[in-house]
Amino acid sequence: MTKLISGKEISTKINEQIKKEVKNLKSNDINPCLAVILVGEDPASQVYVRNKKKTCENLGIKSIGHDLPASTNQKELEALVNDLNNDNSVHGILCQFPLPEGLDENKIILTISPEKDVDGLHPFNAGLIAMGQPKFISCTPFGVLQMLKHTGIETSGKNAVVLGRSNLVGRPIATLLSSKGWDSTLTVCHSRTSNLEEFTLKADILIAAIGIPEFVKQKMVKPGAIVIDVGINRKNDTTKPNGTKLVGDVDFEEVKSITSYISPVPGGVGPMTIAMLMANTVNACRWQNGLEGINL
Ligand code: NAD
Repeated sequence: MTKLISGKEISTKINEQIKKEVKNLKSNDINPCLAVILVGEDPASQVYVRNKKKTCENLGIKSIGHDLPASTNQKELEALVNDLNNDNSVHGILCQFPLPEGLDENKIILTISPEKDVDGLHPFNAGLIAMGQPKFISCTPFGVLQMLKHTGIETSGKNAVVLGRSNLVGRPIATLLSSKGWDSTLTVCHSRTSNLEEFTLKADILIAAIGIPEFVKQKMVKPGAIVIDVGINRKNDTTKPNGTKLVGDVDFEEVKSITSYISPVPGGVGPMTIAMLMANTVNACRWQNGLEGINL
């Protein structure tokens, strides 16, 4: 029978652990602090930032918001990041993407100190992942790994197929799952992959991160597979008050009956992503104070 991998439940457990870690740090006069930069007024970004700040508050992590107008130029934004890099009371820096047109996200990623890169996007941290020595892991891939770990899923020797090769999600998940300790055999599929089903049907573990609503259908999934759905998409639904509902990249209703484990949307990878941001912030603080990272 299919079992649900509830990111909501796992993240609640992890957040409880982080809350205790924060309390311990504070009792030693160490105050973890995350700076959150939001440029412009993109409604989705505002919601994400609000949720991140709220979770910080719930866990006792200090968050400092820097809300800048959409007219902010590259030089001003980089100057703010540099100020935060040099501020010893700030341990983690998050710049909410996408940035308004005209601003260069890659340059901002490069400007954030790798020591404060809680989003794990700096090439230094991506390089450590590629070398099998991860430090900061970007929050969504980190969340996916924790979902597998906390569910007790054995990844070693399994065929894992990742749909999507973005630097934010698909690529780091694939690199991590194939690295020592996780030991899966990896196939990465993308928009130019021919005969996609040929690969997905071989997947013991299938991870969908493509951004196409309910793209993965039952005929693409091997019976008994473990399916993690990273996608977050809006679909029209007249029964909902705002006329839309959230769906993943997997057709959950169709696929769930043949899987051994499946993560839902919402309540799957989403809450894990925020919990991992909190974990990265606490680790940033611990590392900057000469302490070991926490063991989740
Ligand atoms: P992206 O657009 O950067 O990358 C999409 C990837 O999918 C690309 O590598 C592309 O080659 C691949 N792709 C597109 N069409 C495909 C097809 N037909 N077959 C196979 N591969 C295909 O997107 P992203 O930032 O990696 O995000 C992917 C999804 O994950 C989106 O739905 C996004 O909203 C979601 N997401 C969720 C979280 C979370 O917290 N749960 C975080 C980040 C992203």
